Order: sequence, then structure tokens, then C-alpha cells
Amino acid sequence: MPVKPKLGQNFLTDQQAVQRIAAAIGDCANRTVVEIGPGKGAITGALSARAGHVLAIELDIDLATRLRIEFPPDKVSVVGQDVLRFDFAAAAAAAGERLLVVGNLPYSITSPILFKLAENHAFLDRAVLMVQREVADRLAASPGSRDYGLLSVTVQLYGPVVRLFTLPPSAFSPPPDVHSTVIRWRFAPRFTELRVQAEPFGRFLRTAFAQKRKTLANNLRAAGIAPGLTEASLSETGIEPMARAESLTVEQFAALWRCLQTAGATPPDEVAPAAYDSES
Ligand code: SAM
Repeated sequence: MPVKPKLGQNFLTDQQAVQRIAAAIGDCANRTVVEIGPGKGAITGALSARAGHVLAIELDIDLATRLRIEFPPDKVSVVGQDVLRFDFAAAAAAAGERLLVVGNLPYSITSPILFKLAENHAFLDRAVLMVQREVADRLAASPGSRDYGLLSVTVQLYGPVVRLFTLPPSAFSPPPDVHSTVIRWRFAPRFTELRVQAEPFGRFLRTAFAQKRKTLANNLRAAGIAPGLTEASLSETGIEPMARAESLTVEQFAALWRCLQTAGATPPDEVAPAAYDSES
């Protein structure tokens, strides 16, 4: 069966890594685990030995057929579908509880998959995901660090991310061009605690990070928020007038946004989603 590079088919061959990934999801004896992109089943086998049930979502129909032959349907249900169209709500309802997610992701659609999971956070408990090392660095980054940006804040708003371990290209066949890192993401959204609403706050964040070279105040001005409002809100929340978005904690962003809203600011217009993939 020929490898399909467009589907990010770099199959994990390091058996120790397979066991570490399956162990990293924690106790799943009576739980349903959704596996994103099971491929040839390297991780599926280890998961099915531990989990109550595995829902394996594979876009490649040839691989999905092969998995159906290899694994018993009472342990592994193979869904031949694009994970971006998968109905997590229905799967959680059928399982009667929140789902666990595991996946060695197709790297070209990492961000859309992360946003799909964030969107479905109510149906999810925790996820163990293999991503490109540089993306893992951004996902787990702290304010002020080189890797901290819009992706870090947005994902961490839905719960903490920790880096678990990194694998070299030689752990895969065919080897990818990059190192890979396994992360764990626990879904524990912070919107209520931060007293912000997900949608307008998300738009505010995208505005704040719109242009890396600009200060936060300049990015907000470019999006149409009156400079006087920004100046007063920065002062009230104790944030430096020349601060850049990359230096702010999520608590500071929330305090600033609450202050701006109280002063009458409306959520800025939408910024192109490509902003997540920039070096901001
Ligand atoms: N889990 C296997 C492993 O670790 O060896 C395969 C991982 S490989 C990096 C990514 C897998 O995701 C491939 O099997 C690919 O066909 C599948 N895939 C790619 N795009 C997908 C999508 N949109 N939805 C579901 N699966 C997808």
C-alpha cells in the first residue's frame, strides 16, 4: 500500500514510544478513547489493550479497511472519516461520558485539529497528541518566552498543556523532516474563572497579536479601538503602555478586555485565522 505524504503518513515504528503514548493517556480501562489518524494501527493496538473501547478515525479508506480486518469490532470501531468532520458530541453521548483523545497527528492540519478539539471541549476530558516539536514548544510556552504567542494563549485557555517527550525522525517510517513531541492537554476551560466570553475574547486576542512588531496599544488602535480607551484600560490594569502582547499573561489579557468592555469597547472585527500560524 503506497504511503500518502499529503495525509501526513509518517508511521511510528518505535515500540517504546508507542507504549509511552498509550500510558500517557492514563487509566482508560472503562473509557472510550478516540484515536485521530490510526494509520496502520501502531498506537491502536496498545490503546485497545488498555481502553474500554477505541474509536479510530482514519481518512485513508485503504488504511481504514485494513484496520477493520486487524482489530475486533467490539474493541475498535474504525470510522472512515475526516476527523475535522467527526461528531465528538454524538460520540460522547454514546459513551455516556467525556472522551479521551490520542493521536499522532497529520502535521499539516495540526491547528485545525487543535481548534476542533477546543470547540468540542465540553465532550472531552484529556488528549495526548504528537505534534511537530516547534508547535509543542508554542503550545506549552509561558509569557515572555520566545515561543509564546496567539496559539499558546488560545490553546491554554481551554486547559493546561504539558510537553511529555520528543522523538527524532528515525522513530518513524518514512522519517519526517522534523522532530516530534508528545503533549498532554487537559480540558479545563478558564472562561468563567476569567469572566470573559469565549467568542469576543478570542477576537480580542487575535487583534492583540495581529502584528508582532507593533505594541499591544498599536494593534488595538489599528483594529479601531479608541487610543484613549486603551490607554486608560492599560493604566487601570497596571500594564505597561508600550507592552507587547507576547509579554502578557492570560489573566492580564482578560483583565484588560473586561476593562475595555466596561469602558464601551466592542469586539474588534475578525482577524484572518492565519494569524495563529504566524511567528507571533
Ligand atoms: N497513528 C499512526 C502512527 O502513529 O503510526 C499514523 C500517524 S500518521 C502521522 C497520521 C495519520 O492520520 C495517517 O494515517 C493519515 O492517513 C491520517 N489522516 C490524515 N488526515 C486525516 C484526517 N483529516 N482525518 C483522519 N485521519 C487523517
